[in-house]
Amino acid sequence: MMNLIEAVKAAGVVGTGGAGFPTHVKLSAKVECFIVNAAECEPLIETDKYLCRTFPERVVEAACAISEHLGAERTVIALKGKYKPEIAALEKAIAEKNARVELFQLRTFYPAGDEQTLVQQVTGRCIPERGLPSDVGCVVDNVGTVLHVLDALEGKSVTDKYLSVVGEVKEPVVLHVPVGTPLRECVQAAGPNLTDYGLIVGGPMMGRPLTDEQAIDAAVVTKTTGNLIVLPKDHYLFRKAQLTMETIRHQTKSACIQCRMCTDLCPRFLIGHQMRPNLMMRNLWREKTIQDNDEYLATFGDAANCCSCGVCEMFACPMGLSPRKVNDYLKGELRKRGIQVPRNMEPATRTFVDVRKTPTDRLIARLGLSEYAGRHARTCLEVIPDEVFIPFQQHIGKPARPVKAVGAAVFKGELIAEAAEGISANIHASVSGTVINITPTGMTVRRRKE
Ligand code: SF4
Ligand code: SF4
Repeated sequence: MMNLIEAVKAAGVVGTGGAGFPTHVKLSAKVECFIVNAAECEPLIETDKYLCRTFPERVVEAACAISEHLGAERTVIALKGKYKPEIAALEKAIAEKNARVELFQLRTFYPAGDEQTLVQQVTGRCIPERGLPSDVGCVVDNVGTVLHVLDALEGKSVTDKYLSVVGEVKEPVVLHVPVGTPLRECVQAAGPNLTDYGLIVGGPMMGRPLTDEQAIDAAVVTKTTGNLIVLPKDHYLFRKAQLTMETIRHQTKSACIQCRMCTDLCPRFLIGHQMRPNLMMRNLWREKTIQDNDEYLATFGDAANCCSCGVCEMFACPMGLSPRKVNDYLKGELRKRGIQVPRNMEPATRTFVDVRKTPTDRLIARLGLSEYAGRHARTCLEVIPDEVFIPFQQHIGKPARPVKAVGAAVFKGELIAEAAEGISANIHASVSGTVINITPTGMTVRRRKE
């Protein structure tokens, strides 16, 4: 078997569950515990469950291979206890392979799949503020990522994605598509109930809302796309996303009652980090008047510890305010001012961590998504578009550099853009065909029809 790091790097594997951190960098560590994240953190998403149900043997095999590489004593697949068919499938695969893999059953809360929360739940350890699981002897990879790692060990690069399409569609489906497939084609394959719709790329809490027609037309599936939610354009989630900082400032000044609910339910506060969003909200009115960086740090430095999970603004706040957006704004201002925020390297979980979890069913109701809940994807459809647009940056770090010219014939799985120096990832052709256009951001390949 190929060297794991080399294989993963060559195949262009990046984290499928988040911002696309190159996996070969993450796996260059020795740790005690390897956790496969199959928690399907956000409401409505179906992809991780589908992968666990459909490829349980490969998930277990991948988990064992990665664990061995990391020198981990403990290998854990973490998923929600309510995922009964998936648990049964994984238990069978573990027994058949006689694998030393534990299943860790999480309660149904948000954000169960957040890396920091997950590590705390599985190991009882708290990751330092703005730290990594490896700081406490762990590596966490999403279930889709570990399957890509196994593919990489078998010489296959990342060319395809599984993603679910939910919301205003005939029924939720899982799609298997080449990277670069237009999102419009994904929605079309799922059978939309609306002609004029908006999309959330990802989950309803942290996903990217798209309502502009041109933006939707231009958007494609990348290595990190795991879900699409089709919704009416006037849905609450879009209206909430469109609030300007100016409006948020006015709302905060006039309506924050300092009830502290945003702090009491904040997942970062619960694992002992310095994160009290109610204090950011209390002081926002004078933010523009603070010139001195030390005072700015003392007043707003904690915003750097916010993970933008959205519990505060989408669930906790009884006044419908937006502490997450305020923190996002403050994080930007801290960066602009060049303020370094010190880190607490030894946070301790608060004693009430397990009684202040945000229940997913209540969250779904607050998000205005109840009518779409409880419908699950039973089928997986293959979608193969005539053309794909493959972005050079589908990962954190530097974009990959194209190595093919317009007119070149490419084969599925062939390298089309190579990783830049430093943090970056290789990009491969997701279909066989001809390169018909190259822009600064990506390459269009027209599929060769067999
Ligand atoms: S929950 Fe809302 S009203 Fe209460 S302190 Fe936080 S922002 Fe203010
Ligand atoms: S978005 Fe809100 S709840 Fe989430 S970490 Fe930030 S302050 Fe805490």
